[in-house]
Amino acid sequence: MIGLSIVVPCFNEEACLPALHERLTKVARSAVGQDYELILVNDGSRDRTWRIMSEIAATDPHLKAINLSRNHGHQLALTAGLDLAQGERILIIDADLQDPPELLPEMMEVMECERADVVYGVRSSRAGESHFKKATAHLFYRLLASATEVDIPLDAGDFRLMTRRALDVLLSMPEQARFIRGMVAWIGFRQVPFPYARDERLAGETKYPLAKMLRFAFDALTGFSSAPLKLASHAGLLLSLGSVLIVFYILVNWIAGRNIQGWTSLMLVVVVLGAVQMFVLAMMGEYLGRLYSQAKGRPLYIVQDIANARGTEVGRLG
Ligand code: UDP
Ligand code: MG
Repeated sequence: MIGLSIVVPCFNEEACLPALHERLTKVARSAVGQDYELILVNDGSRDRTWRIMSEIAATDPHLKAINLSRNHGHQLALTAGLDLAQGERILIIDADLQDPPELLPEMMEVMECERADVVYGVRSSRAGESHFKKATAHLFYRLLASATEVDIPLDAGDFRLMTRRALDVLLSMPEQARFIRGMVAWIGFRQVPFPYARDERLAGETKYPLAKMLRFAFDALTGFSSAPLKLASHAGLLLSLGSVLIVFYILVNWIAGRNIQGWTSLMLVVVVLGAVQMFVLAMMGEYLGRLYSQAKGRPLYIVQDIANARGTEVGRLG
């Protein structure tokens, strides 16, 4: 076992790599001496990221560099790195040094003192990001919180320190569309926020254009909430209630003789069938929701402590 693993996904980050390597090495040494590994994942970069990475790896035995076959996206690149990590504690950090690695010793102290399994960074301020980015991020975290059953922390990115057992649970979750900060929140154990000021990107520009941001938000929402599936239920319920009123109105008109030939029967068919269809859709939605949560195959429960027994277990795979 290694004391500390630092995992970094990198996409077109050639300009950040040398400074990243230097600062991570320095902070890892000061925290755990020689007992660390750096894991850099090249997520199908189109610039010289991989060349630089492998050059540094040739000079530094602490560095493990992985080259993915193509761009898999931030969350999957991160997963590839986490799969390789052997550390007792694992730090996740972005390549652009927006999250200061120098906070590591403090985070380790918090982990120690609070006996936490996860210490997650919460951005109390964000420097050098556009108003649009800040506003959409702000909105996103609040929308997510209102739609999901899991308490996903507000304004927290992937910058976090985790224990081995928390990572093992995370890696046991086999879902394809990964929203890692949500999955970590879902695990439970003791998780402690760590407020910090987010710096500007060291170099280059954001690797999250609008399309990727939307994809990310959609993965988060669908991965942690079946609210969209339940839309049909709500629509069905409203429509059925409405249809009772409309049917009443149609019948009153019919009795009063205020109608065009054929209007009554036509309206009845349209209204009643509409409501019935929504109901059937809603029922299918309910089953689909169950199938979906089953198909995710997450562990059914996670054991944190057991009294009078050796070790702790992760739980049964569903
Ligand atoms: N990243 C990645 N693959 C991608 C997009 C981003 O590995 O397809 C990495 C990127 O190199 C960085 C991290 O994910 O280390 C976060 O990206 P970025 O800093 O551009 O996002 P922002 O901070 O602007 O939200
Ligand atoms: Mg960034």
